[in-house]
Amino acid sequence: MKQAITVLGSTGSIGVNTLDVMALHPERFEVFALTADRRLEALRDQCVRWRPRFAVMTQADHAQDLASQLRALSVPTEVLSGPQALLDVASHPDVDGVMAAIVGAAGLGACLAAAKAGKRLMLANKEALVIGGAIFLAAVREGGATLLPIDSEHSAVFQALPQDATTWPSRIQKIILTASGGPFRQMDPSSLRTVTPDQACTHPNWVMGRKISVDSATMMNKALEVIEARYLFGVNPRQIEVVIHPQSVVHSMVQFADHSVVAQLGTPDMRGPIAYGLSWPDRMTSGAAALNFTSLPALTFESFEDHGHPERFPCLRLAWQCLDAEDGSCAVLNASNEVAVECFLGGSIRFDQIHAVNAETLQKVHASNPGCLDDLLALDAQARAQARLYARALGA
Ligand code: NAD
Ligand code: MG
Repeated sequence: MKQAITVLGSTGSIGVNTLDVMALHPERFEVFALTADRRLEALRDQCVRWRPRFAVMTQADHAQDLASQLRALSVPTEVLSGPQALLDVASHPDVDGVMAAIVGAAGLGACLAAAKAGKRLMLANKEALVIGGAIFLAAVREGGATLLPIDSEHSAVFQALPQDATTWPSRIQKIILTASGGPFRQMDPSSLRTVTPDQACTHPNWVMGRKISVDSATMMNKALEVIEARYLFGVNPRQIEVVIHPQSVVHSMVQFADHSVVAQLGTPDMRGPIAYGLSWPDRMTSGAAALNFTSLPALTFESFEDHGHPERFPCLRLAWQCLDAEDGSCAVLNASNEVAVECFLGGSIRFDQIHAVNAETLQKVHASNPGCLDDLLALDAQARAQARLYARALGA
């Protein structure tokens, strides 16, 4: 029997890579639904190729346009629109697996719907877990879902751990997340003021969407990943360490109680972690190239302190600050950062002001402990409003 997969955010970098991996295994997978925000032509072409049962676009007028184009091409896909449609295609009884590859808080509702419906939930959309935290994990538990990390670092940790998650607390001593250091690792911190969006989006090792590329340049991506690791693996925040590894060959490591370290290695290609998420507990071909050890550059590991932290990467330590607060601070941080990155990409604040917006928003918003999705959404909205206010003041 083929597995029916919904790809949320199918036109993005992870979405396209997911379909590329699935195309290698037509006997194992079929597409149930594809979703996109704006890129109508890209979604249309994917529908022609995959003939999913459903396609979803954010706006109703785009959905209508897509529906008429598909009708003209005799593609039988039903086109839906709006946030409820995302929840429906993530939780539909005929769906086996959901690739959560929407960027940002916009993907949270669909992730929760898939979790509650007990799906195999392949999580690339790290922001959803950063915001949702314990509420997200409770939905996974109550729905009986299988949560599989797609972020390369978390896939690496997951691959280094025994399959039985109940053994993790007694075995894991430390999780060591690797970070490439992004494009500005060696830049003088004072020149970060003049960095342009295009410079920030040019990552040395990975090709990704613009939001995560900016997050990689500020190191906020690693901050989000520290929070993600805390929830995925149930560790104490002090058990998570970050090291700079510019070659992006070691994707992350686990140090066990006996100080033995297990690392996962591979070429920097997201099709590796995506294939593992799709095939787990089995393995299958991914399309990623094999490592050639004799032609690899020297693998190096450096501490953040050597790189002028905190001046160069001030966003990173916000992860521990938010986790230590044990309230809704992670949701506030994520919302603020989404606004700050949008403002930077739109040209209204400088690159180095992204951290300023995040630090100020965390200080101003009282992050009471959210008890349900509505509390999270209220906190997210409050943090966005505060971040916008401050970003506007900075840009004025
Ligand atoms: P991207 O910008 O390339 O794609 C985002 C996708 O989400 C697109 O299909 C877009 O149409 C959809 N989308 C955007 N806003 C939406 C909205 N408001 N409502 C509904 N759909 C919306 O992003 P990406 O690089 O593929 O990243 C996707 C997620 O995966 C992010 O959370 C990112 O942090 C994570 N991730 C990405 C990579 C990578 O290599 N690209 C690696 C690890 C984790
Ligand atoms: Mg990552």
